[in-house]
Amino acid sequence: MQFIETRGNDGQKPQSVSFSEAILSPSASFGGLYVPNALPNLDKDFLENHLLSHYKVLALDFLQKFGIDIERETIQEALKRYDAFDNASNPVPLSQIEEDCFVAELYHGPTRAFKDMALQPFGYILSKLAQQKGENYLIMAATSGDTGPATLETFKNQANIKVACLYPEGGTSDVQRLQMVTEDGKNLKVIGVKGDFDDTQNTLKSLLASGDFKNELKHHNIKLSAANSVNFGRIIFQIIYHIHSYLELVRQEKIQMGEKIYLVVPSGNFGNALGAYYAKKAGLPIEKILISSNINNILTDWITKGVYDLTVRTLIHTESPAMDILKSSNVERIMFDKFGAKRTKELMENLEKEGKYQLTQNELEKLREDFDASFSDDAACEAVIGNYAQKGYIMDPHTATCIGAYEKLRDKKLKTVVYSTAEWTKFSPTVSKALGNELKNDIEALKWVSEHANVAVPPVINALFKKPIIHTVVVEKEFIKKEMLDFL
Ligand SMILES: *Cc1c(COP(=O)(O)O)cnc(C)c1O
Repeated sequence: MQFIETRGNDGQKPQSVSFSEAILSPSASFGGLYVPNALPNLDKDFLENHLLSHYKVLALDFLQKFGIDIERETIQEALKRYDAFDNASNPVPLSQIEEDCFVAELYHGPTRAFKDMALQPFGYILSKLAQQKGENYLIMAATSGDTGPATLETFKNQANIKVACLYPEGGTSDVQRLQMVTEDGKNLKVIGVKGDFDDTQNTLKSLLASGDFKNELKHHNIKLSAANSVNFGRIIFQIIYHIHSYLELVRQEKIQMGEKIYLVVPSGNFGNALGAYYAKKAGLPIEKILISSNINNILTDWITKGVYDLTVRTLIHTESPAMDILKSSNVERIMFDKFGAKRTKELMENLEKEGKYQLTQNELEKLREDFDASFSDDAACEAVIGNYAQKGYIMDPHTATCIGAYEKLRDKKLKTVVYSTAEWTKFSPTVSKALGNELKNDIEALKWVSEHANVAVPPVINALFKKPIIHTVVVEKEFIKKEMLDFL
């Protein structure tokens, strides 16, 4: 299996690259992304063969069918990371919340958000490749909350990798901040930035573009890679749990093999949804992928009107901050798949130059063959959380955006899987508010919700409040470069 580029080839980079090359240096010609030139076939035989498979067995077979250039033993070691999830025999449990609606809980890993599903095995593989090549890599991440902890956790004490993580001081929940500043590892650096997430991200971008920073990296013989979802090494692991959810419905005798289902995906950078799209394209019986957003609903406009327009928008902070995103990176991979490289380049250049683009009617229809979309505001999400808490199910605000899409968008009476992307414990003040007691800090909210709704707080979350703070650096933007150079 080879990887090609969403905006075509510039004549400098190779015409196609292997999986390992695509994940070590994920930036493609003209600022594009790498995509696979073919997908494995998830036909009925494949699905039936795996009806009783362990998650790791399914994953190994899938990855081998994909034909990635990673040794079987390395893949197996990487997949062992799922053994540390709550239930080693089923890392992604499926809970029924309505007669025809099931929640696939993607948050049972070490940092309690779905980022672990991909970053855990990906971190092992990237470090292994770096060791085999005798190269050193720096991963830089700017985080609004979930990516930072998951990136630090997966790479801590891994050979040949250093991680620097920037977070906006005051811009994350207490739990998210503690997950980063208490993370112990010789190869990790965590820097709080005075400013909001945009400042943090812009600082990172200008640092990565600066000449002396690049020289300094060269001098230390360090290459740059990325651990966000522009890296296909994350996307590949995000195809597998969609297959698993489908098989789980068959195992639980809720559907017959071959019966179609809906998926509802709470989306930001569209990595989770892209995984669902590839699963559907490879043959998994999915009727449609329903995309849910908060009021930063640029994806709703894209899928319902074919418009992607940044010029009429400013980012709004919501109670589902992991979806407070306007430039959604994986949309590009969908457009490549449907409209080809030439058109994708044109559309993405329009977005960069004019801040917007418009699909043709025909293109919009093609997009809507696989997707539909809607959004929920904070008040609607709080109502959903309160309502399901009364029925005995506690969900986080990102998951809550899905319920509106589930209620509004289904044309057919098919079984539906909703993806839960974070545990409520990461957003406990919002959950306490939704349950009628607005508590401002995480410690109080965790305790109250846990007692009031009779749900456990996992030991890894409780332990955060007692762990020593290791990373105490909080700086103005101007001093980040100096901190980074000291770290290198
Ligand atoms: C990252 C994240 C999302 C968005 O996922 P994408 O793959 O970027 O669309 C949704 N919810 C939570 C809790 C997340 O951490």
